[in-house]
Amino acid sequence: MTRPAKRLEAPFTMRPAKRLEAPPCRGGRSTLEREAALVSERVDIEGVAVSPDHLIGGERVSSSTTFEDRSPLDWSWKLADIARGDAATADAAVTAAVDAFPGWASIGPDGRAEHLHRLADLIDEHNDEIARVETVDMGMLYESMRLRLVARGAVNFRTYADLAATYEERHWSSKGTENTVQRMPAGPAVIITPWNAPFMLSTWKVAPALAAGNTVILKPAEWSPLSCSLLADLTVDAGFPPGVFNLVQGIGEEVGPPLVGDPRVRRISFTGSPETARQIGRAAAENIVPFTAELGGKGPLIVFADADLDAAALKAAGQYDDSGQVCLAGTRVLVEQSVRDAFVEAFHRHVDEHVLGDSRDPTTTIAPMIHPAHVERVLGFVHRARAAGDTIVRGGRRVGDTLHVEPTLVEPATNDSEIVQHEVFGPVLTMQTFRDEDEAIELANSTPYGLSAIVYTGSHERAEHVGRAIRAGVVWVNTFLVRDLTAPFGGVGISGIGREGGDYALDFHSDLKTLQIAEHTTS
Ligand code: NAD
Repeated sequence: MTRPAKRLEAPFTMRPAKRLEAPPCRGGRSTLEREAALVSERVDIEGVAVSPDHLIGGERVSSSTTFEDRSPLDWSWKLADIARGDAATADAAVTAAVDAFPGWASIGPDGRAEHLHRLADLIDEHNDEIARVETVDMGMLYESMRLRLVARGAVNFRTYADLAATYEERHWSSKGTENTVQRMPAGPAVIITPWNAPFMLSTWKVAPALAAGNTVILKPAEWSPLSCSLLADLTVDAGFPPGVFNLVQGIGEEVGPPLVGDPRVRRISFTGSPETARQIGRAAAENIVPFTAELGGKGPLIVFADADLDAAALKAAGQYDDSGQVCLAGTRVLVEQSVRDAFVEAFHRHVDEHVLGDSRDPTTTIAPMIHPAHVERVLGFVHRARAAGDTIVRGGRRVGDTLHVEPTLVEPATNDSEIVQHEVFGPVLTMQTFRDEDEAIELANSTPYGLSAIVYTGSHERAEHVGRAIRAGVVWVNTFLVRDLTAPFGGVGISGIGREGGDYALDFHSDLKTLQIAEHTTS
């Protein structure tokens, strides 16, 4: 059942929420439907039949208990009761991945690339269904989901299929030996993903693991579990051998520890919060398992006086997109003192153009937040900021009984304010000023995070200098979110450990071996 979301209150542009008509699916139902293999009944989500179960060893498997999945578009709308995995589920999934590993590793990069390309084609074919489901499950804008995030899922698989298949082993002679560096598939990999952009982020991590020859157990977040269930269906449709890709649903604290603590797991790839990363890191240390963590951010958005101020203000207002639930967002706006007033005027003008509403409505620009508990968490930051003497310049309130929080701007009393130093992960920006380049760099590097940074300047020389001085995994100058998937991706400080992207992810998912054969060896 689809419920219309509620109208939002002023001061934002009012748009009556409307229900999008689901395009008719072939045969009247989604082609993702797979009734025969069902354990639990599939749930109709926006015209798509979604399994609430795990996928283990190529079969749908339910659990004796479930957890509720609700829609951020209307919290009274229960989407599904999802299988609640436990230690036995984790054990079964790892066993399936162990059993499937030798076969998957032995078909080689070309054989694996064929599967990954088929999967990418199926994602494109089902783009709209995946986008519809993820929109009501996670809340992100439908158009953004369809055009950007689901499409990127297919690109992730194609990129890694081609990178792994075209990899050239390194050969050289030294000290009387012929040397070769070989990538050996490592074994079963556990992949744990967060609730924001679940489909894109999961495919970003699953693709290199599978391309490298590892089998996978994916555990998506409990707040947005549905699109990964569709991904599981598509791996079956793409002909992946049973057990190569496994999906385990459940609550992180319950099913996460038995997954990451299983000594048969040979890689752990995690995206989420630093708090959870610390716990997973302990399990990885216990079993001496390589572990990557892509964690939170508190990126600066630095505006120099020589910048195109309107472009910078538009980009700053754009940091409220997706209700600020974006790890890479530039949430600390740092403006050169001399242009503060002009920048602030342009910033407010662009923020006023935002439309809060139903994520399925193409005129909406800011989607609701994921969960009432997250709304409370975000508002808690704002309340504590006010109490500590920070100035709430705009916003700071929940909109009616929706899960929207107004776009909020805070001028902190000091750089030590909690709202400057901690990731809020909501539609909350801080604004501070700086006098010169040195102070801008000092402020930019003044939090424990280091995931990303955005710089606006008209000077190429300054772009080089400031860009190099910022400690972050990625620095964008006069642009944002442009990604080359072969580039390294990851964080500095508590924003993460290790690098994903391109060959970095394929190396992580491989055991690199040096083979040395004495040059006088004869056949
Ligand atoms: P989270 O750490 O609460 O949960 C992430 C995942 O870990 C979920 O699947 C959860 O079920 C699981 N989990 C929880 N406890 C676990 C445990 N003890 N053992 C194993 N797994 C466990 O994070 P979240 O709230 O879902 O996501 C938001 C965070 O993710 C933010 O900090 C955000 O910045 C970060 N993030 C980072 C990136 C990046 O690329 N760096 C991308 C997106 C989100």
